Amino acid sequence: MKGSVLETDSLRILDDALGTLASGFASLPAAGAHGDAEAMARVLGEVAERLHDNFPYFHPLYAGQMLKPPHPMARVASALAAWINPNNHALDGGRASSQMEKEAVAAIARMFGWDSHLGHLCSGGTMANLEALWIARELRPGTKVVASQQAHYTHRRLSAVLAIDFESVACDGAGRMDIAALERILAAGNVGTVVATLGTTAVGSVDPLPRILELRERYGFRLHADAAYGGYFILAGNLAENARLAFDRIAEVDSIVVDPHKHGLQPYGCGCVLFKDPSVGRFYKHDSPYTYFSSSELHLGEISLECSRPGASAVGLWATQRLLPLEKGGEFASMLERSRAAALALFERIRADARFMTAFAPELDIVVWAPRAASAGEASALSRRIFDEAAHRNLHLALADLPMEFFAADAGAMTRDRPTVTCLRSVLMKPEHLDWVERIWAIVDAATRAASREAGARP
Ligand SMILES: *Cc1c(COP(=O)(O)O)cnc(C)c1O
Repeated sequence: MKGSVLETDSLRILDDALGTLASGFASLPAAGAHGDAEAMARVLGEVAERLHDNFPYFHPLYAGQMLKPPHPMARVASALAAWINPNNHALDGGRASSQMEKEAVAAIARMFGWDSHLGHLCSGGTMANLEALWIARELRPGTKVVASQQAHYTHRRLSAVLAIDFESVACDGAGRMDIAALERILAAGNVGTVVATLGTTAVGSVDPLPRILELRERYGFRLHADAAYGGYFILAGNLAENARLAFDRIAEVDSIVVDPHKHGLQPYGCGCVLFKDPSVGRFYKHDSPYTYFSSSELHLGEISLECSRPGASAVGLWATQRLLPLEKGGEFASMLERSRAAALALFERIRADARFMTAFAPELDIVVWAPRAASAGEASALSRRIFDEAAHRNLHLALADLPMEFFAADAGAMTRDRPTVTCLRSVLMKPEHLDWVERIWAIVDAATRAASREAGARP
């Protein structure tokens, strides 16, 4: 496996650690079926073949959607835990991993400036936001939730699940919540909760939290920060002013969602919800007849909507944070800084090229752009061709439909025959992306030439 594009050195570490794990249970008599190794090898070989049918998410030339490989630390720590398969619902199902979850989540809360909190891991940002909106509804029954047009679509859908009224707030030309539009909605009344997105999923824009906090003084709403994508960027030392000011004040919100499975180097199935006021735990109260007998300590199932939860996720996260603490100036922070630097470098390349129009400079590590053309429709078609031509050259980008207003300053006389334009989008989530910017740019350049030739050749 030497020279493989896939990391395999961690397998040796896993093997050693399995020995250490087993030694803790050495007093038990030997037991157990281990399965037919030959048959398993056959099936696993088949699985490996089946998994060829994927984009190479782990490789720097995959620069499309929000997909980032877990750190090897997370992979082997959660794999190690899978030999025990703890369940972090109740302490009876996972003592060590529940404690590790409490520690890992407390470290995330401290990263946001909270010394006390209530929070836990869950399956992802959707579930985490569901819990935050549910608590908001319990505290503000009969009121509306509002979030920006660039907020994740899950807020509208979760509001429907929770039977809460939902309204979208317009965005400004930089994809951030428009404060004047928010104030108009607040003035109309009955808004209980504002969702501020710190790092939108499509473009990475950061809502102007200081301005929203000012409005809270006047209108007294509950404030939830959806930082599922962007939360960890609080540690980055190279943010531009709007994003820096927003993250600097995140401790003032009532609840926060962040996804360790996005920028926290974890495998999927790891989201996190945090509440500033631990007393909201009362809303989770339930009577379970069969768990919770072992200890008067907090069982995480008492403060989580999901019942069974993978202890392995907590172990993976704990180990990763142990190796790469959530500190400004640390190695983990520098990974985020490199991603952001990569996005800025690619953005500069694209901006300097007359074939493209750009929206706004990236606030995090997501770049969006579109080719210039006579109309929004033609630009959209050309984006799709560039996307395909790049993929033929092993560079995997993404497409996003964005409002023409985002390109207002750069679109010139382009005909607005449709309200949105299909753009190229690149999420430069991997720290290695910084070393690959020139190669990525060279492929974008070649793909654009090919796509334009093709367009010119058409009748
Ligand atoms: C990804 C994302 C979500 C949804 O989270 P999942 O982990 O995919 O369930 C919600 N909000 C934002 C801002 C996101 O980026």
